[in-house]
Amino acid sequence: LSEEPETLLQVDEALSKLLAGFPFMGKETVPVSRANGRVASRPVFANTHFPQYQTSSMDGFAVVASDTTGAGNDHPVCLKVVSEIPAGLYPLHKLLPGETSPIMTGAILPPGGDAVVPIEEVSGQPLTFNQKIPHQIQITTPIKPGNNVRQVGQDFQAGDELISANRPLRASEIALLSMLGRTTVQVYKRPQIAVLSTGNELATPGKPLIPGSIYDSNGPMLVACVKSAGGHPVLFGQIPDDRTAIIRALEQARHKKVDLIISSGGVSVGAYDLIREVIQEQGRLEFWKVNMRPGKPLAFGNFQGIPFIGLPGNPVSAFVGFEVFIRPTIGKMAGLTRTARKSINVVAGEEIKSDGRESYLRAIVVEDNGEMVARLTGHQGSGNLRSLVQANALLIIPTGVKSVRSGTELKAWLLD
Ligand code: AMP
Ligand code: MG
Repeated sequence: LSEEPETLLQVDEALSKLLAGFPFMGKETVPVSRANGRVASRPVFANTHFPQYQTSSMDGFAVVASDTTGAGNDHPVCLKVVSEIPAGLYPLHKLLPGETSPIMTGAILPPGGDAVVPIEEVSGQPLTFNQKIPHQIQITTPIKPGNNVRQVGQDFQAGDELISANRPLRASEIALLSMLGRTTVQVYKRPQIAVLSTGNELATPGKPLIPGSIYDSNGPMLVACVKSAGGHPVLFGQIPDDRTAIIRALEQARHKKVDLIISSGGVSVGAYDLIREVIQEQGRLEFWKVNMRPGKPLAFGNFQGIPFIGLPGNPVSAFVGFEVFIRPTIGKMAGLTRTARKSINVVAGEEIKSDGRESYLRAIVVEDNGEMVARLTGHQGSGNLRSLVQANALLIIPTGVKSVRSGTELKAWLLD
């Protein structure tokens, strides 16, 4: 392995090489009630105009607008109240000139009616329909045809594309699908992601800790990361630095037909960094040194045909490696066409030293006098999780920059 040429890749180069190796997942149909957060795999078109009928946008009185011409305080127009129209009822009575129907928001306009006078504007009448409805009302302001009426197709027309493919379905899309009467929707399958933690020193939280061992924090962290990225995690726990154990775990992942295996630890040049070797023998390995900090080493390849990404073991390196490389990968597998994280503009709230590599620093971003100001959180060592817990953002120091003055404009990813 040592004679293999190792190139130093820029973050964006490494990411586009990685993404190129991952197609979209297959498609499946799921109930709308469970589609929140899933990614639509085809556009959704309207099968009807909406509203389907002319409806009232107010609680009030449906009228024939021409009846109100010339109405004023001195000469109010008097209208005879006929059948009431609650929402959900299909009105059959045709309004004749001089007639009005009490109508509720969302109810269908009666034939003959072409405007709605809001109840608040009917002079001398109670302001709600909770009281007894009068036999006649007086109108003192003229109303135009179409006022307070939702026209047919005002929201959308039959055939309109309402929901685009390759975007996540949010509460609003769930509502729209339901408005169309749909109970199912076609989405991309969720990628199944095996999560392995490698290291002889790792213990399972909840079990006793023998001297020299540490609890596995990367496993649970990566499970949470996978879920939030739209993948389904399959947890394999802690795997010792032992060839047979590593191969057994990887084979189990293959049997479970996962779509991607991610691991932490064992990709550097330590004596027990075996997973790289195993991948190289049992599949294909590309090992990249990425010009970034933390998280420089990144292993990418496949184990017996299953894609594999190996992250470094230090918890913050593993976290940053996930955010930079695996979140967009899972996003693409899950069907998203826009996988890049949205970055915001911030200004450095202090002087920051860097080493020229693209750096993802733990920071707190707060709004201060209309500016988003970023300050680092404590010790930036790649094993120091506390400063990650204190952070609400990753502050990005571009490649080639070694020192940043307070007040410099930078980009950051908000984590919350
Ligand atoms: P490695 O990349 O295997 O050389 O590990 C680098 C550092 O990360 C070592 O100090 C490991 O003990 C630590 N480490 C590796 N895996 C984990 C894990 N799953 N949880 C917490 N720390 C880990
Ligand atoms: Mg290790």
